[in-house]
Amino acid sequence: MKLSFHMPTKVIAEKECVRNNAEIFNIGKKAIIVTGKRSAKENGALDDVIWALRKNGVEYVIFDRVMSNPMVECVYEGAETAMEEEVDFVIAIGGGSPMDAAKAIALLAVSDIDKKDLFGGNIGNRALPMIHIPTTAGTGSEVTPYSILTNHEKQTKTSIGAPCLFPEYALLDVKYMKSLGVKTTVNTAVDSLSHSVEGMMSARSNPMSDVIAREAVRLIAQEFESLESGNFTEECRERLLYASMLGGVVISQTKTTAVHAMGYSLTYFKGIDHGRANGLLLGEFTEFTEKYAPEKIRGILSCMGMESVEEFKGALKRILGEGEGFTREELEMYADIAENTGGVKNSFKRPTRDEILEIYIKSLL
Ligand code: NAP
Ligand code: FE
Repeated sequence: MKLSFHMPTKVIAEKECVRNNAEIFNIGKKAIIVTGKRSAKENGALDDVIWALRKNGVEYVIFDRVMSNPMVECVYEGAETAMEEEVDFVIAIGGGSPMDAAKAIALLAVSDIDKKDLFGGNIGNRALPMIHIPTTAGTGSEVTPYSILTNHEKQTKTSIGAPCLFPEYALLDVKYMKSLGVKTTVNTAVDSLSHSVEGMMSARSNPMSDVIAREAVRLIAQEFESLESGNFTEECRERLLYASMLGGVVISQTKTTAVHAMGYSLTYFKGIDHGRANGLLLGEFTEFTEKYAPEKIRGILSCMGMESVEEFKGALKRILGEGEGFTREELEMYADIAENTGGVKNSFKRPTRDEILEIYIKSLL
């Protein structure tokens, strides 16, 4: 057996976990709170964090300018604020976008990295310590060493990764998820499903990541009906939040595959939500991989109580509804962009450029 597993983030999941574990916020003298425009103020997460910081007498500054699919300019701006304010740790509150931006800010606040090196992978391994509080149940970014940023030069999204980008703490409280609308709940759940399924179709999958992925897939599949109907109980949301964190642990070891690499074009060019973009492609990529690794795929299907990829594709279609319109020319361009990406190369069976195009066509035309 060949195995290597490193996931240093301390995860605490419980109701009121921010206030109940306020002493965690004592890891520095001044924090930058990185978040989006609105939701953290409305769902109570920001109030809880400020309460915990005040309890410890820790100062803070709020950077609430993170947009979905964060831009490089935004993280450089956040890092400038962090340096000007002389903060010594970072708190992220929100979905994957604020969490990813927070990681880049934690990195750029202590290292002088220019834009070219940031996407070129030359980023060293030094960052401010971080506490992450997810308020969507999908990306698992709270337990991954990746920050995914919009890369205009390559017209896609690029992942920067380094061990220093693992947060020190991930605090999971389902109460923040109550305000999450149906569309975001569904799309983020599909993202986490994709992480675990892709983890098992990754060239880096290993026995431990597979165990965790299988459990995450099993839990999410229990909620397929809720995802179709748009009715979510608290127990359901709790399961999705837990499964999302598990999916993050999976990709922290395996990385993602062609599905994510191909999905980035749907987000970059069409503004399709990240999780939905993956979900639209996941069924066809699973079918493609089945030809080369039928046992792997049987294992994935069995976690969902399914017997065929057709069944899986049907479930995804019911959850995601009708697809958006695309032209063949658009898909040709997306295939060119995806062909040599890390995600495509990281697939257990690496698809060629023509196979990528075929998966796009079968999924989207
Ligand atoms: P998001 O872009 O973080 O958030 C989507 C929307 O949901 C925003 O409008 C946000 O509002 C709102 N929102 C967040 N929490 C809410 C809540 N509790 N109640 C109501 N609204 C809420 O979406 P996401 O899907 O979580 O993250 C996607 C990003 O994560 C992508 O950039 C993707 O590439 C990345 N990602 C990263 C990893 C990784 O390992 N690092 C893995 C997968 C995906 P506000 O702006 O007001 O907060
Ligand atoms: Fe994702």
